[in-house]
Amino acid sequence: MIEISGVHKSFGDVAVLKGIDLFAEAGSVTVILGPSGSGKSTLLRCVNHLEKVDRGLIRIDGELIGYRQAGNRLHELSERQVLRQRARIGFVFQNFNLFPHRTALQNVAEAQIWALGKSPSAAYEKAHELLYAVGLWDRAGAYPRQLSGGQQQRVAIARALALEPKLILFDEPTSALDPELVGEVLDVLRDLAAGGTTMIVVTHEIGFAREAADTVVFMDEGRIVEQGTPAAVLDDPQHERSRAFLSKVL
Ligand code: ADP
Ligand code: MG
Repeated sequence: MIEISGVHKSFGDVAVLKGIDLFAEAGSVTVILGPSGSGKSTLLRCVNHLEKVDRGLIRIDGELIGYRQAGNRLHELSERQVLRQRARIGFVFQNFNLFPHRTALQNVAEAQIWALGKSPSAAYEKAHELLYAVGLWDRAGAYPRQLSGGQQQRVAIARALALEPKLILFDEPTSALDPELVGEVLDVLRDLAAGGTTMIVVTHEIGFAREAADTVVFMDEGRIVEQGTPAAVLDDPQHERSRAFLSKVL
């Protein structure tokens, strides 16, 4: 389902990703851990082509990201084709990124109209369903500023789901939240995981990784230094760097 092979990415002469190989099955949850600056966000941004890789390939569901293959040559996709591809990959950010002048309901409904070409009535019906699923059926008419951070993040997750993504990328979805609001967002992530949504989650929430991840990946300085089941990576890390990191966050 997710196939990342030999991905390299530099900014100027700073090599940020130095050969990333990562595979994940449909319906699986991959949690990425690692210190700040290790390249986690850059890797997620490459997966949905917000950044173009310098070397290597990424395939989602067999489809090459950013390129079209003809024989053994690769042709870059047009901007429009990239946007279409990106619409099927959800991205949930640390800072929610809701449209401030749209209600919760409009935030979830409108993307379906412009990205999927749905009719307004179908889009609003689906938006109501999704707000119900994230526990916000009674806040549909609220504007982002009237919602807590945890509620805003749940709206952002509903909005990502509304586009029926093949895969959802989460970049530290709880790290901007007050501690007492982290749990309600993790509950939604757990529901998604149990429901078979394919997800890659960058987070420092080790408890979530332990319960929900199929694979835990530890990144350091642009490389994957450890990768395996939660038990293997969290309880028996093999690498000096992952041991040092885990001893700080556990
Ligand atoms: P993480 O998410 O693990 O904290 P990032 O992927 O955000 O790490 O960043 C990895 C490195 O790449 C950092 O040193 C950061 O400064 C650098 N970097 C990220 N994006 C850019 C950019 N657009 N231009 C230049 N450097 C960048
Ligand atoms: Mg980051």
